[in-house]
Amino acid sequence: MFNIIIFGPPGSGKGTQSVKIAEKYGLTHISTGDIFRSEIKARTALGLRVVSIIEQGALVPDELLLDLLKSAMDKHPGTGGFLFDGYPRTLQQANDLEVLLQENNTAVNIVLALDVQDDELMQRLLNRAKIEGRKDDTETVIANRLGIYHSQTKPLMDHYDDKGKLEQVQGTGSIEEIFNSLCNVIDSRIS
Ligand code: AMP
Repeated sequence: MFNIIIFGPPGSGKGTQSVKIAEKYGLTHISTGDIFRSEIKARTALGLRVVSIIEQGALVPDELLLDLLKSAMDKHPGTGGFLFDGYPRTLQQANDLEVLLQENNTAVNIVLALDVQDDELMQRLLNRAKIEGRKDDTETVIANRLGIYHSQTKPLMDHYDDKGKLEQVQGTGSIEEIFNSLCNVIDSRIS
C-alpha cells in the first residue's frame, strides 16, 4: 500500500488536488470534512453531535475521528492505499493513524503540505462562501480555522519532517500547475 497525507490550510485547494491525486494514483480518498458534512446533511447522530463544532470552525474531538477513520478504512479492504485529506489535524490523531496503519501492516509514505499565505486564503474562502454557501466560510469562522491550523496542525508538519516524510509544495498558481508540482514530488518518492 502507498499512503499519502495532504496538509493545507482551509482554502488551500487541498480538496480539489486530493480528488485528482487519488484518481491518478488509484488511492482511496478519505476527507474527514466531507464525511462530517454528509453526516450533518443526513442528520445522523454523529452529524448532530458535530454540527455546532464545525459551524464554529473548531476541531471535532480526537476520539470521534478515530472511530470515523476506522470505519472509513474498513470500507476499502483491498485498496492500493489511502489519501488522507484533513486528517490528522492533531498529534494525537497522527499517533492514532500510525497505529491504525500498523494494524494493516502499512504506514504513511508521504506528507504533502500546500503552502498559501493567509491573506490569499481569506479572499479565496470568502469567494467560496458566495458560491457554495458553506456555513463555516464566514470571516470570523475562517479566522478561527486559520488560527487553529497554525497553532495545532502546523506542528504536525515538524513531526513528519523529523521522520523525513514532509514535502512542501507552493499552493499558488493554476490547479494544473499545483497538481504537476504535487505529482513530481510523489513520483520522486515512488521511484
Ligand atoms: P475541512 O473540510 O477539512 O476544512 O473540515 C471542515 C471541518 O470539519 C473542520 O473545520 C473541523 O471542524 C472538522 N474536521 C475535519 N477534519 C477534522 C479532524 N481531522 N479533526 C478535527 N476536526 C475535523
